[in-house]
Amino acid sequence: MGISSELLDHSAAIVDAWSMPGGPPPGAPEGPTNRVTNELSEVGDGLAVVESFSHVVAFRTDEGLVLFDASSVFTGKGVTASLRAWADDRIHTLVYTHGHVDHVGGSGALLADGQERGHAAPRVIGHEKVEARFDRYRFTDGWNLAINARQFGPGFGGGGGRDGRKATFLPGNTLACTETYRDELDLSVGGLDLELHHAHGETDDHTWAWIPSHKAVAVGDFVAWVFPNAGNPQKVQRYPLEWSAALREMLTLEPELLLPAHGLPVAGKERVATVLGDLATALERLVADVVAGMNGGATLDEIVHSVRVEDDLLRRPWLRPIYDEPEFVVRNIWRLYGGWWDGDPAQLKPPPAAALATELADLAGGPGRLAARAQELSAAGDHRMACQLVELAAQAGQDPGLWHLRAELYRARALTETSLMAQGVFNETARSSDERAES
Ligand SMILES: [Zn+2]
Repeated sequence: MGISSELLDHSAAIVDAWSMPGGPPPGAPEGPTNRVTNELSEVGDGLAVVESFSHVVAFRTDEGLVLFDASSVFTGKGVTASLRAWADDRIHTLVYTHGHVDHVGGSGALLADGQERGHAAPRVIGHEKVEARFDRYRFTDGWNLAINARQFGPGFGGGGGRDGRKATFLPGNTLACTETYRDELDLSVGGLDLELHHAHGETDDHTWAWIPSHKAVAVGDFVAWVFPNAGNPQKVQRYPLEWSAALREMLTLEPELLLPAHGLPVAGKERVATVLGDLATALERLVADVVAGMNGGATLDEIVHSVRVEDDLLRRPWLRPIYDEPEFVVRNIWRLYGGWWDGDPAQLKPPPAAALATELADLAGGPGRLAARAQELSAAGDHRMACQLVELAAQAGQDPGLWHLRAELYRARALTETSLMAQGVFNETARSSDERAES
């Protein structure tokens, strides 16, 4: 099989167009930037990417395959089939770029396939905090099932529920690490040298790798062709400044091939530098602006409503706020360097939300008045204020119609949001609000 450069040509066209001084020309290509097809493309000599959720990056060596990530429980079988159409060598080493379930959940399928072929089980390498993450997933299983269903939609809650077993967030057949490391680890497998580096970023257990013979970086979720997932409202702490530092460190190696776990691989030193540099710049500026506000005594509210990422960066197809978004990253930076209190003294020990809503509804002339104003604001496109008022109306009133209206306004709002995370929360709110109205 010759080297198919279709994927690399595609990313080259996008990066070249969108990094032009003065902005992209009319009709510049935008995508698709992320496909979950389980299709395998060779992007180098003995080097392949399987596009999935997450991708699997595979290197062929004299001792067997070296893989970065195992994809999810939903896609494990599909990526295994694609890999096997490319190479039937045993999997020598599987590196987890981090312990998110979409990167480790397919490991059971890879192992089962190997066992059928009589292969020895692979060595599984991850950062030393991967196992602590797995422990936390088991500890907070119900929470994680619920938030993933809310973020990605029903059906994406968990895996491993086949054969009558209860579905768990971390699939029960996920392979544990057989080797862990703390800061750096050099590997040599069948003639292929790899340097693993740990850095905080999207997670506290992340690994990125430098592969000198390909001048390549395998970066896990440090690059995902979306605005960095450094603000997820429903999940644990992320590390935007450490994330940008890791991107800067990759840049010093002058990589010529970028191998992310989501989105497109990128070839060419300048293109790779553009993508890595843009991501680093966006994160650095956000952190600098939020911390300047904190140091200057601003409240979280003042910071949330003033700190922005410039449109020129946000429009670039490798930085679009379609998964996470800058506003959420701002809150996450506040949480990282500050505490949970937002600086509003009324919010330090507030009254129960329903009691406050009842008080305000009485002052306004009843929940119906709040609801009517909410509807007006929604129609006028002020969804932030509309949802705030309908929330008060619903909390203060007994009428199921208020909960239906609440559903309607959140559904309207979801349509205006760019990020999957905001859409997920608002759509789930609409769904449960209708359900409550009918109960
Ligand atoms: Zn991921």
